[in-house]
Amino acid sequence: SKWVYTFGGGKAEGKAELKDLLGGKGANLAEMANLGLPVPPGFTITTAVCAFFYAHDKSFPKELTPQVEKALEQVARITGKAFGDATDPLLVSVRSGARASMPGMMDTVLNLGLNDRTVEAIAVRSGDRRFAYDSYRRFITMYSDVVLGFAHHHFEEILDTFKDGKGYSLDTDLTGDDWIEVVSRYKTAVAQETGKDFPQDPHQQLWGAIGAVFSSWMSARAVTYRRLHNIPESWGTAVNVQAMVFGNLGETSATGVAFTRNPSTGESRLYGEFLINAQGEDVVAGIRTPQDLTEAARKESGSDKPSMETATPESFKELTRISRLLEKHYRDMQDMEFTVEDGRLWMLQTRSGKRTTRAALRIAVELAREGLISKKDAVARIDPASLDQLLHPTIDPNATRDVIAAGLPASPGAAAGEIVFSSEEATKLQADGRKVILVRIETSPEDIHGMHAAEGILTTRGGMTSHAAVVARGMGKPCVCGCGSIRVDYGGGTMAIGDRTFKVGDIITIDGSRGEVLAGQMPMIEPELSGEFGTLMGWADEIRKLGIRVNGDTSADARTALRFGAEGIGLCRTEHMFFEETRIRTVREMILSEDEQARRAALAKLLPMQRADFVDLFEIMKGLPVTIRLLDPPLHEFLPHTQAEIDEVARSMKADPRKLADRARNLAEFNPMLGFRGCRLAIVYPEIAEMQARAIFEAAIEAEKRTGKAVAVEVMVPLIATKAEFDLIKARIDMTAQSVIRETGGKPTYQVGTMIELPRACLVAGEIAETAEFFSFGTNDLTQTTFGISRDDASSFLGAYIAKGIVAIDPFVSLDRDGVGELVKIGVARGRKTRPNLKVGICGEHGGDPVSVAFCHEIGLNYVSCSPYRVPIARLAAAHAAL
Ligand code: ADP
Ligand code: MG
Ligand code: MG
Repeated sequence: SKWVYTFGGGKAEGKAELKDLLGGKGANLAEMANLGLPVPPGFTITTAVCAFFYAHDKSFPKELTPQVEKALEQVARITGKAFGDATDPLLVSVRSGARASMPGMMDTVLNLGLNDRTVEAIAVRSGDRRFAYDSYRRFITMYSDVVLGFAHHHFEEILDTFKDGKGYSLDTDLTGDDWIEVVSRYKTAVAQETGKDFPQDPHQQLWGAIGAVFSSWMSARAVTYRRLHNIPESWGTAVNVQAMVFGNLGETSATGVAFTRNPSTGESRLYGEFLINAQGEDVVAGIRTPQDLTEAARKESGSDKPSMETATPESFKELTRISRLLEKHYRDMQDMEFTVEDGRLWMLQTRSGKRTTRAALRIAVELAREGLISKKDAVARIDPASLDQLLHPTIDPNATRDVIAAGLPASPGAAAGEIVFSSEEATKLQADGRKVILVRIETSPEDIHGMHAAEGILTTRGGMTSHAAVVARGMGKPCVCGCGSIRVDYGGGTMAIGDRTFKVGDIITIDGSRGEVLAGQMPMIEPELSGEFGTLMGWADEIRKLGIRVNGDTSADARTALRFGAEGIGLCRTEHMFFEETRIRTVREMILSEDEQARRAALAKLLPMQRADFVDLFEIMKGLPVTIRLLDPPLHEFLPHTQAEIDEVARSMKADPRKLADRARNLAEFNPMLGFRGCRLAIVYPEIAEMQARAIFEAAIEAEKRTGKAVAVEVMVPLIATKAEFDLIKARIDMTAQSVIRETGGKPTYQVGTMIELPRACLVAGEIAETAEFFSFGTNDLTQTTFGISRDDASSFLGAYIAKGIVAIDPFVSLDRDGVGELVKIGVARGRKTRPNLKVGICGEHGGDPVSVAFCHEIGLNYVSCSPYRVPIARLAAAHAAL
């Protein structure tokens, strides 16, 4: 079988579609070669070899060696060089490349093929001994680190000692002879440490590197990354072997990364960084501060170093041309890696660029406007869950900012927390419910855990494409990086800026949109939504079939929800109005009353308050449907807890505190969630439902008078198990409506329906629909009652259920299709059989979960209702479901 695919010289055996087999990097190198772009020739060893490797005790298929040899010959032919040749040696890079991009997770070896002989040949041919030995020492460092397991820092120590001895401060101070000496010290160290000489045979080097790339698929940091990003282990990585081009060949050489559009803002302008006289890893590692690509960017950043546009104008023009071409070809923003060798541009990688949600929206909308993609494509490209990022708080602009340091705005949003200097500490404190900002000189893949745990990330080194920046953007966490003025002392647990010192545990705020670090906890505000957000949401609305409502109890909720595009209130929980401090006393009077008369007296006090709330809500909603649920929680929850509270109620009721305490004890329940709650309250105390219905109808008439718009009110009865319950309560509601009409002369339009949240209600939905005019599935309670799991107590064992794979995901987060979903389907089908135009919605937490929204679309619900901040997510998820 075919294990190796070649590319280069204007053609390739692979193509972009073969991503699964060639990995992302290999497939796109092939695609670029086929497009005629300047790609150094090379070949890709497929992911199938990786699978073979792990299935066969880390050995290779026997056809692999001849196939690699043949491919290597082809590369030699195209470049006119030969591997291991003593006069014109071919050098290669060995690069990993999985199906999904795993930035920085797998290690690359550059300059492979160098040894004591070939390095001399390179020196002679290039006429640059310094360059040759600089490349050699880089190779020894990388190869030892990745293949021989001899860590980087050993070499850094050797180099520092050498520089100190010579009185040098920069690497560029070293001459060719200096590097020769350093290389010899490096080799001695490797021989001492590993007991073997550094391998001189290029073929041995090559196979060592290939084996190391495949082995690194199972390295701890790769395993962690895959787990966090749900990448299956079975995918494996490919290995790319590619002829080297040199960015470290003097002042006309460079290396860099470029995005076709700005990955933070989405702005359509070539964006990125480059370094003159450097090799690839230098940019990513953030060792030197890189230069801007465009003059415009340089002016904005105020950098005094020339941009690529002025430093190497020809290759800049070429990069601009290629970046446009690639974006057109892939119909998406590209993230490219390139190297300029002696004025000539070479492309080393392209892929769809990671971006913030804000950038994703702008790019999708602009690509659609440019005609590169359709509106539907644009909508499909935005992950609904990612909209959460836009809803991140920012710092209140009116607050006084105590800026202690400035760096790069690497990932937008603001966050505050305690300073921690290690990822372990971040993880530990987060587990205790503390908020932390992870402060590091720079981050590496080992820090991913800590970055996850932190509210935000701050680094003192590295550019916009450094590890910290890339990973934070992907996670949607605020990040400020490259804060050079901060000096971090890990040992002492402090960071200092000028004469100010902050220690571990001190609170700071980072502003990832401005690139600033501020002392203390700053006040935050909600974000403004961009024009592109509105445009894309508008396109989503054209596509979706599901209505989107909000679960909102207050006028603030209603306003937020309208701003986010809600089309009505799907659930107003009236009890939330009761818990307010001034009202709870009256509520307690009501429930502790001995008889109906006393209860009615307390209810009469609640009526005007409740009515005023509803008038507000109806006015804000301007004729959109508003579903109001009658009192639902267990009376137990309203009971006074302390003697002081009992005394207070007793005084106001002029009752005996001891008697009241008795009554409260009688009402206490062992299992309130399955107790005296929901419609059971209205069955036993119909006057409660009567008061609420009256408040609703009077408010509807009042609001209609004020706004001139008819109020579409839906009165919803909770926790119905039988049709008889519903009918009794509906009769009360209708009767109350009649009284209000008689008294006021107004005529409210209303429907009475029910929540379906008990399995029995699903089963007898056909009967219930005879009188119920709408259904709303309360999937929180339905999940509790279907699983027999109390939501409030589930945390002690649900984790184990998920860990053991009994359930894939918390059923309170994402709807359980097989069980709860099946009951919903039965309920819908039986309800609509009785009443074909029955309006059916859902109002559990699931209404804002994209996967659950897709299910609701599939089974033909009319709408989903979710919390205010999830309304945009639900709108987009509903559009995705309809695509
Ligand atoms: P990663 O997946 O971590 O980005 P890469 O395989 O892309 O690793 O390699 C990192 C960098 O090494 C590249 O961005 C590029 O600058 C440099 N590099 C890789 N292969 C070559 C090559 N053949 N010639 C010159 N530079 C290379
Ligand atoms: Mg790369
Ligand atoms: Mg409920």
